[in-house]
Amino acid sequence: MQRRLNKINTPVDPLEWEMTPPTVNAYFHPLQNNINFPAGILQPPFFNRHADDPINYGGIGAVIGHELTHGFDDEGRSFDAQGNLNDWWSDADAKAFNERAACLVDQYASYVAVDDVKVNGKLTLGENVADHGGLRLALMALTDVLTTQKPKPIDGFTPQQRLFLGWAQVWCQSIRPEAARMRAQTDPHSPARFRVNGVLSNMPEFGQAFACQAEAPMVRTTPCRVW
Ligand SMILES: [Zn+2]
Repeated sequence: MQRRLNKINTPVDPLEWEMTPPTVNAYFHPLQNNINFPAGILQPPFFNRHADDPINYGGIGAVIGHELTHGFDDEGRSFDAQGNLNDWWSDADAKAFNERAACLVDQYASYVAVDDVKVNGKLTLGENVADHGGLRLALMALTDVLTTQKPKPIDGFTPQQRLFLGWAQVWCQSIRPEAARMRAQTDPHSPARFRVNGVLSNMPEFGQAFACQAEAPMVRTTPCRVW
């Protein structure tokens, strides 16, 4: 606390880390306009040097895209390139963003976190925007690689399928109902199940990769897309 208080009225240190090296997490810093990945997250399941690229694209690749997208979510978009709170968007862009974001708010608000507790679509909006943008960036990067490389299926799964499996794998979890209830009301991240299914059901590329029928549960008829 004293160390933090001592910072008052001193210059901002743009090189300061807000997480310790072993932390399994990552962050976008709107005031510094940078993205940060402690050593702790650069290990399985997020990054596995023995895994094929599509798995890692769906893991740490999507996480990197997630942090990048935070710069353009409902909060990050109000900071400019210098990290100042400054509305740099045109009115038309802001309006279009809000319309697209409203789609995600409604989608996630329809999910049940536990028992009678629903997901809070507004609380989780920024993280949901980041999840969608992040996985899409990872897919774009993989698609780019696949123009020159043709990796064979592994365990019967194509590279595209393995990217989506990689994304699902990083959110495997076991959580007690009490914790799920508490998190649904305080955590800006959606429950892990919806970080997976909420994103994938909005991506036509997922349905194509797994040859889903049009009426399949994982194919939303009017998918939301912000970025
Ligand atoms: Zn995030």
